[in-house]
Amino acid sequence: MSTALHPDTLALPYPDADLLFLDDLLTPEESERLHFLRGFFQDTIRPIAVDYWNRAEFPFHLLPLLAEHSLVGHGLRHGSHLLTGLVQMELTRADTSVGTFFGVHNELFTAAIQALGSAAQRAELLPDLLALRKLGAFALTEPDSGSDISRSMSTTATRDGDEWIIDGAKRWIGNGTIADYVLVWARDTADQQIKGFIVETDRPGFSATTIENKIALRIVQNADITLDRVRIPATNWLPGTTTFRDTNILLRNSRIWVAWQAVGQQFAAFDVARAYVAERTQFGKPLASFQLVQEQLARMIGNATLSLSLMVQMARLQETDRLTMDQAALAKASCSVQMRDTVGIGRSLLGGNGISTDYEMAKIFADAEAIYSYEGTYEVNCLIVGRAVTGIAAFS
Ligand SMILES: Cc1cc2nc3c(=O)[nH]c(=O)nc-3n(C[C@H](O)[C@H](O)[C@H](O)COP(=O)(O)OP(=O)(O)OC[C@H]3O[C@@H](n4cnc5c(N)ncnc54)[C@H](O)[C@@H]3O)c2cc1C
Repeated sequence: MSTALHPDTLALPYPDADLLFLDDLLTPEESERLHFLRGFFQDTIRPIAVDYWNRAEFPFHLLPLLAEHSLVGHGLRHGSHLLTGLVQMELTRADTSVGTFFGVHNELFTAAIQALGSAAQRAELLPDLLALRKLGAFALTEPDSGSDISRSMSTTATRDGDEWIIDGAKRWIGNGTIADYVLVWARDTADQQIKGFIVETDRPGFSATTIENKIALRIVQNADITLDRVRIPATNWLPGTTTFRDTNILLRNSRIWVAWQAVGQQFAAFDVARAYVAERTQFGKPLASFQLVQEQLARMIGNATLSLSLMVQMARLQETDRLTMDQAALAKASCSVQMRDTVGIGRSLLGGNGISTDYEMAKIFADAEAIYSYEGTYEVNCLIVGRAVTGIAAFS
């Protein structure tokens, strides 16, 4: 890879921090697309991100730009899983919130319509979703049920003639206040199974309130959602969803997306830290010339590169259709624990300036906490791995 990531690292060796020569694994066309998108993300998203993050506002003007580069449904439209993962990584490297907004729309809502929707739902919804003219959200978590949602979901769906009545509450729903559609997971009162329903956000009885005062992903509009006997047509049920197990394909793939985010987060921290220590002088020398500082940079890039190597193998497993939830959980847990170490070191390398978002690192540091806790917390993903390697489920 040859495109520089951070303007201040242009003159440094390995300006893009790719010590693994990943280009060799991509086709020339894929490599060109990755370079192009990386430049686009760095030029268009990164310079505005801190300001929008501080104001907790969503940069709507980015939507047509993202659509122009046909990023939604990327894997279907542009080749390998490795390229798709690297694009997700680069988007997060530019800004985590925009990466998360996009992942919710793409990996959770649009992918659900593609994989689990009817032919009619796909025909009606996909053109606008792919063009980002309409936005989607994914509502699984509830105020009283997070890690144990599959067991204790209280939102219900009751069939009433040609309609379903959805009743309940959801919490933390990314894009919840800006989406046109929310994929609501609810328990069918007839057979007690959890199923997915497309709820248009202008239906009577639907309300979404922005969650304020977040310390992470401040650009993402997370919502508390109330569904007060919302009536939707019977055709809004996703026919590919008959039990909670049907969420598995989505949650497996979205865990992989979030693991790629955890890699992008580490490269973002490394980019900022390396540029800062090259510039900042103490005791008459650049910080970068101190052995202890170099050890910390080595640990950061070592962590990031280890995470990246793991994700390259995940992409290989996806390519051969061998990826399971066990491996996705391993990737999400392992990359996010390395990410916490990496962004912590990065934050401290900036000293006091690591505490102010003016220097970007504080945003990266704080956003990492959301990655650590969503798409299954670190602990819940470890429990999935623990079950896989012991045969014993230790969830409860
Ligand atoms: C920024 C952000 C965006 C989000 N976006 C969405 C979204 O778009 N859609 C959506 O549906 N949800 C979303 N979520 C919700 C997210 O998936 C949940 O926060 C997550 O699943 C954890 O649930 P919880 O917050 O209820 O924590 P809890 O389940 O209450 O967990 C609290 C703590 O207890 C630990 N814990 C729980 N059970 C066990 C156990 N058996 N053993 C050991 N430790 C355990 C957890 O690991 C955690 O440390 C989002 C969350 C955040 C913060």
